[in-house]
Amino acid sequence: MPAPSRPSRPFPRRTGGPSRRPSSSGPVRSAASDLEQALDAAAAVPAPEVVPTFGQLGLPAPLVTVLERRGMTAPFAIQVRALPDALAGRDVLGRGQTGSGKTLAFGLPLLTRLAGGQRVRSTPRALVLVPTRELAQQVHDELAPLAQPLDLKVTTVYGGASMGRQIDQLRRGVDLVVATPGRLQDLVDQRECDLSQIEITVLDEADHMADLGFLPAVQALLDLTPGTGQRLLFSATLDRGVDRLVRGYLKDPAMHAVAASTSPVEHMDHKVFAVSHSAKVDIAAEIATRPARTLFFVRTKHGADRLALQLQKTGVPAAAIHGNLTQSARKRALDDFTTGHARVLVATDVAARGIHVDDVDLVVHYDPPADHKDYLHRSGRTARAGSTGTVVSLVASDQVRDHQRMRERAGVDANAVSVVPGHPAVREVAESGEPVVLLPRTPSVSARRGGGGRPRRSGPPHGSGPRSTGGPRRSGPEARASR
Ligand code: ADP
Ligand code: MG
Repeated sequence: MPAPSRPSRPFPRRTGGPSRRPSSSGPVRSAASDLEQALDAAAAVPAPEVVPTFGQLGLPAPLVTVLERRGMTAPFAIQVRALPDALAGRDVLGRGQTGSGKTLAFGLPLLTRLAGGQRVRSTPRALVLVPTRELAQQVHDELAPLAQPLDLKVTTVYGGASMGRQIDQLRRGVDLVVATPGRLQDLVDQRECDLSQIEITVLDEADHMADLGFLPAVQALLDLTPGTGQRLLFSATLDRGVDRLVRGYLKDPAMHAVAASTSPVEHMDHKVFAVSHSAKVDIAAEIATRPARTLFFVRTKHGADRLALQLQKTGVPAAAIHGNLTQSARKRALDDFTTGHARVLVATDVAARGIHVDDVDLVVHYDPPADHKDYLHRSGRTARAGSTGTVVSLVASDQVRDHQRMRERAGVDANAVSVVPGHPAVREVAESGEPVVLLPRTPSVSARRGGGGRPRRSGPPHGSGPRSTGGPRRSGPEARASR
């Protein structure tokens, strides 16, 4: 088996004290860039020429079998890199673009290491912390079928859902809890969840948890887990306090990355339309007539409702998703989008983080993103897991300069074209994409769309090995922040 290289370079870390909790002093300023550089170096390590199989990477046979049955025959690049270290029990700091397969990169080693252990009521042995409810559900739905053959139980803990049911599940005994920080803290406070026996903790989308102000809660929860446990942290960026988390809670982590923090997904086509304020809605409506799924991004919750309504008035089946909606309304919007009953989804940034719907081949920045990172995050909702996608920015004339600077920071090469409704460049987008295949509405969050979608147009992120196009691959309806 080819030994995947482990680009791990020493970096200064705090030592001493029973808790590895960081203090607010220390070499924090350059720390983020230190870590980013180490990750950039890790990303520069070439992938092995022959991609090892999941079995060769050390996964147990029952797990390899379910993966195959679910259409996952070859590991993605981040999985090839992170699995051996994570399986060996090392702490891991990982970075990979959206859709690169991080969930299995941490999920597979986690399940493998938990297998065969003892389940104790209200005392999970592994914890995955995520920023949003829907991401929690999504991680659960991805891992639960893999946990089953290993006789492991996975449950979710997040706000907006019945606490009684969550307590009930915990009391019956679970091995892995996938949680958002706020609700987990509540359950810990009520003594319904004991974190003292946690062997493995995963922080997924740590940067997003930082954005939502969850880092103090995350730290408090980490402090309740044994300092001897294994910790894996995944984040697109290491600023806003994520670096301190790494330094304080990860022991000599192996660094694994598959793309630099600012490198856009290669198979994304970026277009910039310079528009007048008055023509913006009409151009959006024209684009929205396309036969395929389109995801629009707007700045405000109110703006999301308004644009969805404006599109509906022109006959486009559009839904809005944002933080003011109830959990069930958000779920319905995503379900409708996933099943094709709403071909268009209008989302705010927070609502869209973690949204995972396959076959979104067009993302439209209706309002500009706050910065280049948000641009990449939003754009990352298309071209997932190796498929192709187009990203269109509608930019008002007074935003053109700022937008140009933002694109430069994002490493995106595109020139603004001035357009009006009916312009050939707009028409081209409006006619692009293959018609959505309407699927029955899903009765529950975990009900998934099977094959049915159009085949992917390109390979997996590491550019080798086949990937399933139909079969039991999943795409999930869900998204958004917890309390
Ligand atoms: P990320 O968290 O990096 O954004 P995900 O973990 O959500 O990405 O994975 C994106 C998609 O790719 C999911 O639908 C997942 O099931 C699929 N996937 C992950 N690994 C593989 C693999 N090795 N083969 C095929 N599909 C995979
Ligand atoms: Mg993910």
